Amino acid sequence: MTGILFNVERSSYVDGPGIRTTVFFKGCNLRCAWCHNPESQSPKPQMMFYKNKCTGCGKCKEKCPNHLESCELCGKCTLYCPHDAREICGKEYTVDEVMREILKDKAFYDHSGGGVTFSGGECMLQIDFLEELLRECKNNGIHTAVDTAGQVPYERFERILPHTDLILYDVKCIDSEKHRKYTGVGNELILENLARLLSSGQRVWVRIPVIPSVNDSEGEMAGIRRLFDIHGRPERIELLPYHAMGEHKYEALGITPAKFNVPPEETVKALRALF
Ligand code: SF4
Ligand code: SF4
Repeated sequence: MTGILFNVERSSYVDGPGIRTTVFFKGCNLRCAWCHNPESQSPKPQMMFYKNKCTGCGKCKEKCPNHLESCELCGKCTLYCPHDAREICGKEYTVDEVMREILKDKAFYDHSGGGVTFSGGECMLQIDFLEELLRECKNNGIHTAVDTAGQVPYERFERILPHTDLILYDVKCIDSEKHRKYTGVGNELILENLARLLSSGQRVWVRIPVIPSVNDSEGEMAGIRRLFDIHGRPERIELLPYHAMGEHKYEALGITPAKFNVPPEETVKALRALF
């Protein structure tokens, strides 16, 4: 069985407990305007061109069978570019190939209470591949976390929960129209799935990006908190302030990014206090 990934990052400290390997699935069914991984959105491999690294030497054009007129993602230009200005993002992996990467750091997981986190993109969109990887991790005694935006039928959670130790669940905002405006979809299914997960007693960490002018108000955060009052409190609530570190990737994909401000630390602190 194979799946498409755009990155496997070792030694991560931000996607769950301990030292982790984060496996990034390619393809997402949301289009969050503040996404810092725009290369995760398309389910297919893509060419990324970093203009700032290019010296204009012309080697890529020389080696390209189409002289850069159209791209078939053959990858030749990336091999000959002396400055890594061209990169194909997204690659098909087998379960065994991913497991080989994951197992390299088994000793670190065991020592630190870490493990592997499946993220994206939306990893739940490649559910067969994800389920197989989770099973393999469990067979190898590795702690597993699944990072999701939750816009999938609940049956998919039922498939993965027996092999998943922790769900990292992204909540963007409580107002569905606003959610649709900034992510492309309403939030009904996302909140319903979260309510079911919380009520079932599953270990859940909720992660909320803090985006000025979108959800950085007391009203939005209080709405999210009310959900927890009704359905149960997640084990952990993380507020993640917006940052613009993904901007160069938008440029590499030829997309103009939406602009947001970075929220002041005091705002984030005050919003955190609401939880
Ligand atoms: S990936 Fe292949 S087809 Fe695409 S630009 Fe590079 S050399 Fe040309
Ligand atoms: S080979 Fe690399 S540095 Fe040279 S023109 Fe192409 S992209 Fe630019």
